[in-house]
Amino acid sequence: MRILITGAAGFLGSHLCDRLLGEGHQVVGMDNFITGRPANLAHLAGNPNFSFIRHDVSNFIFVAGKVDAVMHFASPASPNEQSPLGYVNLPIQTMKAGALGTHNSLGVAYANQARFLLASTSEIYGDPLEHPQKETYWGHVNPIGKRSVYDEAKRFAEALTMAYHRFHGVDTRIVRIFNTYGPRMSIDDGRVVPNFLKQAICGEPLTVYGDGSQTRSFCYVDDLVEGIYRLLLSGEHDPVNIGNPVETTILEFAQAINALTGNPAGVIFKPEARLESDPQRRQPDISRARQVLGWEPRVSLAEGLRHTLPYFEKELGRA
Ligand code: NAD
Ligand code: UDP
Repeated sequence: MRILITGAAGFLGSHLCDRLLGEGHQVVGMDNFITGRPANLAHLAGNPNFSFIRHDVSNFIFVAGKVDAVMHFASPASPNEQSPLGYVNLPIQTMKAGALGTHNSLGVAYANQARFLLASTSEIYGDPLEHPQKETYWGHVNPIGKRSVYDEAKRFAEALTMAYHRFHGVDTRIVRIFNTYGPRMSIDDGRVVPNFLKQAICGEPLTVYGDGSQTRSFCYVDDLVEGIYRLLLSGEHDPVNIGNPVETTILEFAQAINALTGNPAGVIFKPEARLESDPQRRQPDISRARQVLGWEPRVSLAEGLRHTLPYFEKELGRA
C-alpha cells in the first residue's frame, strides 16, 4: 500500500512509519513540526519508499499520486500546562488539527477510495465514571474545561469519521489509544513519562501532581503499533481500545522509576500543577481488541522503561 501518515514526525507517527516501511509499504509522511521533530525521521532520509511533505493538515491536503490508506495522527497530545508543547497552550491549533485536519484527511481517503484510520484517544472518555473503560462507554467530558480543546476535537473527529463511513462509504477505523510511551517522545513534552525519566536521570525529585492516587495504564510503543497495524488490516469500523490494562497509581509509577534508575531523590508533590478534570482512574478494557484483532500487549512496564531510558539519557546528554 501507499500510506499517508499525518503527524509523521511525532512520537507515534515516526514509529508507525518505521513499521509500515518494514512491512514493505510506501509511506508519505506529513507534519508541520508544531510538537514533532525532523530528527524523528532523519534515519529515513534516502529511503526510496519514504517521502515527506511539510504541511499543516488544517489546510487542504494535496498528495500527488494514488493513496491506498490515510492514517491521521497529527495533533498535539500532551495535556501539560507547564509545557509549551501542551495542548492547553495550543488550544486553537489542537481544535483545528482534530476538526479541520480530520476533515481534510478524510477528504483524501474519500477521493482515493482509500481506507482511513483515526488516532483517537482514551480522553474521549473524559474523567470516566465507568471503570475499566469499554468502547461502549460514552464518556464524561466537561465541554468547556481546559482539556476540552483536545477531548472535544477528538470526539468530533470520531463523529466525522463515522459520518464519512455511513454517508460516503469510506472504509474507516478508529483506534482509542491509551497512555503510550517509548523512545522519541519529546523531552519537553510534559507528559508524565518524559518528565519522570528526565528528573530521575538528573537525580531530581519526581514531580507528582496532586496526591498521586490517580491511575494510568501505560503501554509500550511497540505493542501499540502492533495493535494499530492489525486494526489497519482488519475490517473493523467501530472504535477499538488499544492500551495496556495494567493499572498503576502515579505515585507507584514514580517509585518504580526511582527504583529502576537508582534515583535517591524521591518525589515532590505539586498539587497545584494537576490540570482540572485530570482523570482520576484510567484503564482500558481490551476485550474487543483481543476478540477482533487477536491482540494483547506483550511488553511489561519494567521492560518498556528499560528500552526507553537510554533514549532519554542520550537526549539529555545532547541537551
Ligand atoms: P506528538 O506530539 O509526538 O506527535 C504529534 C505530531 O503531529 C507532531 O509531529 C506534530 O508536529 C504533528 N502535528 C500537530 N498538528 C499538526 C498539524 N496541524 N499539521 C501537521 N502536523 C501536525 O504526539 P504523539 O504522542 O505521537 O500523538 C500522536 C497522535 O496519537 C495524536 O493524534 C494523539 O492525539 C494520539 N494519541 C497519543 C497518545 C499517546 O499516549 N502517545 C494517546 C492517545 C492518543
Ligand atoms: N503527572 C504528574 N507529574 C508530571 C506530569 C504528569 O504527576 O510531571 C500526572 C498527571 O497529572 C496525570 C498523569 O500524571 O494525572 C498522566 O499525565 P500525562 O500528562 O502523561 O497524560 P494524561 O494521561 O493526563 O493525558
